[in-house]
Amino acid sequence: MNMNADPSPASLDRLFAALARSKFRGRFMLKEKDLSYLAEKGLDNVMQHARRFLSMRLFPAQIANDGKQTPLHGHPVFVAQHATATCCRKCLSKWHGIPPGRPLAKAEQDHLLGVIRTWLEKQAEAAGPVHTRPWMRQSATQGATGGGGLLDASPASQEFLQGRERQFAAFHG
Ligand SMILES: [Zn+2]
Repeated sequence: MNMNADPSPASLDRLFAALARSKFRGRFMLKEKDLSYLAEKGLDNVMQHARRFLSMRLFPAQIANDGKQTPLHGHPVFVAQHATATCCRKCLSKWHGIPPGRPLAKAEQDHLLGVIRTWLEKQAEAAGPVHTRPWMRQSATQGATGGGGLLDASPASQEFLQGRERQFAAFHG
C-alpha cells in the first residue's frame, strides 16, 4: 500500500504544502492566457485533456523521452504537471512515491489527475471570480449576436435553448 496514493484531503494538503515549499515547483502558475483557456473550456474538458496527455506521457511503463515529455507551457495542464511534480516518472518517483518502469494502476492515475485538478482549481480561485464563472464571463463578453448565443437572455435564444434542452432530454432518455 502506497501512502502517497492515498487520495484523502489530508494527504492532498500535505502534498500541496510540500510543493509550496519547493522553490522550483512554486514558481509555476497559470498565466492570463491559461486562465482564459480554462474558463472557456471548463475544468471538466481540460481534465479530459489531462487524462489524454498523461495516458500517453506518464502512465505507461516506458516513456522514450522521460524527463522531457512535458512542455513548460502551451496548455494549463502542462503547467499544472510541473507545479505538482506529475511531469515525468522521475518526479513521480521522488514526489509521489510511484516507482518508474511499471504502468500506473487505475487508482494512481485517478489520484494524480485529482492532484492536477485541485491545483487548477486553486489557481482559478486565486485568479478571481471571472475565472471561476466561465459562463458569466462568456455571456458578458458575447452580445446577442455573438457566437455563444445559447447564453444570452433574449427571448429567441431562450426558446432555442429550451428546444435544445428538450432534444437533450430525449437524447439521454
Ligand atoms: Zn519531472
